[in-house]
Amino acid sequence: MGDSTTYLNNAVQSLRSLHQINNLRLSSFYRSKPQGPQDQPDYINAVAQFDTDLDAHDLLSVLQQIEKNNDRKRNGQRWGARTLDLDLLLYGNIIINTATLIVPHPWMYERSFVLYPLKELSPDLIFPNGKTLAQCILKVSADDLQLIP
Ligand code: ADP
Ligand code: MG
Repeated sequence: MGDSTTYLNNAVQSLRSLHQINNLRLSSFYRSKPQGPQDQPDYINAVAQFDTDLDAHDLLSVLQQIEKNNDRKRNGQRWGARTLDLDLLLYGNIIINTATLIVPHPWMYERSFVLYPLKELSPDLIFPNGKTLAQCILKVSADDLQLIP
């Protein structure tokens, strides 16, 4: 919802400003159609990679605080339109399964708007389950993605 590119840029700026976050690299931005309800605007997607001293749950809290600072309201409806959604895709090679956090992000292997930006940052990536990004991306078309120049 709203000016997605500005919300994304705000989020990146907030992450860069934290002293516990360093060496942030950002992919291009990609436009995609909504996954859930179709009566909502297109999404703008990107992947960021960085070093951090925060543990994964603290990092999730930081991401949720940044969402909140950018007008994110939680109305209970999943996959509905929102101003900003910051998901934690990977945390090094670590697997996490708690009530509030699942890493690697469960659906990342089949989502074009995750895999293609991720490939820009880390083409030789191997996931914690041993699969490579190169293997996963072969099964996922980029037809539904539009690179924003
Ligand atoms: P969406 O599934 O569309 O990202 P939300 O952003 O509202 O929906 O997230 C719902 C819940 O998912 C969060 O409250 C969070 O605790 C949980 N969650 C579990 N794993 C993750 C993850 N890897 N990244 C972000 N949120 C996660
Ligand atoms: Mg989310």
